Amino acid sequence: MSEPFKTDSRQMLGRLRTVMADDAAGQTRLDQITQLIAEEMHTEVCSIYLFRDEDTLELCATQGLNLEAVHQTRMRLGEGLVGRVARTGTVINTDDAPATRGFRYMPETGEEAYSSFMGVPVQRLGEKLGVLVVQSKDGRTFSDEEVYAVEVVAMVLAEMAELGAFTGEGAAMSARHQQSVQFRGTTAQDGTARGHVWLHEPRVVVTNLIGEDPVREQERLNEAVEELRIGVERMLSFARSGDKEQLEVLEAYRMFANSKGWMRRMEEDIGRGLSAEAAVEKEQSTARARMAQVTDPYLRDRLHDLDDLSNRMLRILTGQGGETGAAMPPDPILIARNIGPAELLDYGRSLKGIVLEEGSVGSHAAIIARALAIPLVIHAARITTEALNGDPILVDGDQGIAHLRPDDTVFAAFRDKMAMQAKAQERYASIREKPALTLCGQTISLTMNAGLMADLPSLEGSGANGVGLFRTELQFLIRSQMPRRSELSELYARVMDAAHGKPVVFRTLDIGSDKVVPYMKPTDEPNPAMGWRAIRVGLDKPGMMRMQLQALIRGANGRPLTVMFPFVAQRDEYAAARAEMDKAMERERILGHPLPETLKIGAMLETPSLAFAPDKFYQEVDFLSIGGNDLKQFFFAADRENERVRRRYDTLNVSFLTFLQNIVERCTRTGTPLSFCGEDAGRPVEAACLAAIGLRTLSMRPASIGPVKSILRRTHLGELRDTIEDASARGDQSVRGAVMEYLRGKL
Ligand code: PEP
Ligand code: MG
Repeated sequence: MSEPFKTDSRQMLGRLRTVMADDAAGQTRLDQITQLIAEEMHTEVCSIYLFRDEDTLELCATQGLNLEAVHQTRMRLGEGLVGRVARTGTVINTDDAPATRGFRYMPETGEEAYSSFMGVPVQRLGEKLGVLVVQSKDGRTFSDEEVYAVEVVAMVLAEMAELGAFTGEGAAMSARHQQSVQFRGTTAQDGTARGHVWLHEPRVVVTNLIGEDPVREQERLNEAVEELRIGVERMLSFARSGDKEQLEVLEAYRMFANSKGWMRRMEEDIGRGLSAEAAVEKEQSTARARMAQVTDPYLRDRLHDLDDLSNRMLRILTGQGGETGAAMPPDPILIARNIGPAELLDYGRSLKGIVLEEGSVGSHAAIIARALAIPLVIHAARITTEALNGDPILVDGDQGIAHLRPDDTVFAAFRDKMAMQAKAQERYASIREKPALTLCGQTISLTMNAGLMADLPSLEGSGANGVGLFRTELQFLIRSQMPRRSELSELYARVMDAAHGKPVVFRTLDIGSDKVVPYMKPTDEPNPAMGWRAIRVGLDKPGMMRMQLQALIRGANGRPLTVMFPFVAQRDEYAAARAEMDKAMERERILGHPLPETLKIGAMLETPSLAFAPDKFYQEVDFLSIGGNDLKQFFFAADRENERVRRRYDTLNVSFLTFLQNIVERCTRTGTPLSFCGEDAGRPVEAACLAAIGLRTLSMRPASIGPVKSILRRTHLGELRDTIEDASARGDQSVRGAVMEYLRGKL
């Protein structure tokens, strides 16, 4: 075996910088780089393979292999040693390539002559861009030092691709950030939007990758780490001792900020010629690559923490704050990994659309987006790394798709879709003042669901007959502190003012399950949706319930008041809650406050048990409202938050419709007013069926009122009911097919 060569990574980076400063065209530059690396590494071969598409790699430049193979030799992800490096994101370093598992010989390259092989992934922040390979004839294993040197060069290379340095003929990664990309996520709020990217947290752009003076870079790193540590300590001192989750995150931050391994690796990178920010980014890149492979949620969270911390460090080092000086486009589409409800409210209605990498349908951000009627796509993996501020983007909230930098065809199709929607909006506006009167002469009352002050202008705009469900917990969810009684009563008064005498049904706090209030100790429950939530919390901790009931009475200030209790599962829960209301009224009377002119107290029917409660219960309540979201999840035992099962069972399933019909019949028999306020009430076909089985009040998102009214005005409920009964008698599992056919004939 020959003497190991000495590779000076600082020298190699120095030469690389000269190449980068040169304004040679992309291909020439790639050629120069392969030549330079081969020389510095004392190998006969250096090649760069880049991704042509998601799973094809192409030889884009080489020193040492046959030049005719450039842009001809391609391999699939996982194929051969190069493909394996690309797939696993790890280095292969062998002195006998042909004997190494996965080796595949590419005859056109002439590589049979080379025994040693070192392949290093070229990746940027966990995103795979290609593979950098060195090969030599003598059977040598490259030293750790050499592997490291090539890794550092690969990182610089990744940045060059990122910066569009290879935009030249033939280069595979040409102008990646100019390509059109489609992100397939999940719908959290439907609707379509067209606009330009506005990054919630703009990516820190590292332009200074190579450090000229390692001593100075080391000092810069130390100063930044110190600033970071002080920041973390400050956050820890402000964190409330009761908040276990927040403390846990901050402790993890502290652990990383003081991690010797993290520091040592970055110091070594600086020693090898990287700038301080490039060293931080290299660590971040490794963490992201691991994140892509780790499935354990705890570990993923920790890697996320490290990612956040790296971003903080990069901001300190580059001086780029959240503020980049860029002006928000007039039609902003917000792109973020995730966003909190308060931050989203700060943007308010200025946003045209939102695309998140994370989030969930029931997340607070989704609730707010829904309230503001802003199309929202969640689970759009990697969009924050792909999108740049100002990029054109189309959001299709109906399909859960975002098109970044769309090409002309996508754009044209989208424009047609938006034009059709605009036409439909015009149609809805034209019937805004008209009743939801069916062809058979039945009027259905359409009310809206709300929860924020931001919702209230919709009361007028949508033509709703009132607020059928005011989710009071939203006010609790979006604050960092528990709201005071006086704040609440003022808010409730403003809601009633905005309703101008139209009825408003206030639902008392429905917290627990997915609705976690930041200032309440989280309960660790195995099944929160079936756990300690809503009225169960209210009855066990009556202090909060009493406060809220008082605030409601005071907010009404002598006007009629309607209140309903969520998640009532049996009669005694309603009775106990009602008794609390009676006590609250009595207290207010003694205090001399005006009492509501009329008081109606209802319950939400969200558990199948209540459908079978004794008649007495049906007579006691002033009204019932079916919370279809919860009722359906318990009826089918299918978690409404679980993407895998959430859409598995159709609302128009015959069993569910029959169950709902039984409830309607019981209410008719007992004279109990009944409404339906789950999401299905806002879906036109479902709404028509609910009306056909006898529901006369439907409460929905304001944006749904137009479409639902429009379909009801063209429906004969008797005919539709016959259609449902026929399908059911035939043994159809769902009546959807038959109903759609009937409705198509009416449109
Ligand atoms: C329901 O469950 O249908 C409902 C309206 O309540 P929420 O969606 O707030 O649980
Ligand atoms: Mg519910």
